[in-house]
Amino acid sequence: YIFGKKKATEVAHLVWRHVLHKGDIVIDATCGNGYDTVAMLKMVADESGHGRVYGMDIQTEALENTSSLLDETVTQKEKELVELFPICHSRMDEVLPENTAVRLVAFNLGYLPGGDKGIITSSKTTLLALEASKKMLILGGLISLVVYVGHPGGREELETVEAFASELCVDGWICCKFQMLNRPLAPVLVFIFKR
Ligand code: SAM
Repeated sequence: YIFGKKKATEVAHLVWRHVLHKGDIVIDATCGNGYDTVAMLKMVADESGHGRVYGMDIQTEALENTSSLLDETVTQKEKELVELFPICHSRMDEVLPENTAVRLVAFNLGYLPGGDKGIITSSKTTLLALEASKKMLILGGLISLVVYVGHPGGREELETVEAFASELCVDGWICCKFQMLNRPLAPVLVFIFKR
């Protein structure tokens, strides 16, 4: 089933679906145009108003796009479960309530599709955000990354992510990647499961 999916993000969503439950608290660390925000909201929102999505992006344009997409695709009640922050994801621990138990932190790295290609995620802040995510994740939780390697700095960012994941202890973490061997420029997926 996974191999029939054309887009890396669709593969990521399939994995999220196996990890998430209704009522979960999740983070979209790179809201962009909001497609991931909507996908994760649908997976966690329940009828009694449980479930929560904290979204962040450094560009207000991205958060506006995300907000518009939410207006078009989810109910007002579902939208109320989303909180958007115009901040760098390395500061996620500053805006979330203390001791928030997060099941998923999702990163879709790179630049805003249709936006300024000069504004991209960077290895340094991505690493800080990964450290912050690690602390917030509950047992059974997931850090999911879609990493693009076709733009300058992309490969280096992948190496940073891989180095972070490779150093996590085997007893506490399962770290793996999904890479298209015959499409060298295709995005690479990295999944970091907390056991
Ligand atoms: N998830 C999005 C979607 O479904 O449309 C796509 C995300 S896009 C590939 C990457 C986004 O990361 C851009 O909107 C960019 O502004 C944002 N970004 C770049 N650096 C960031 C940072 N340090 N903190 C948070 N967001 C950042």
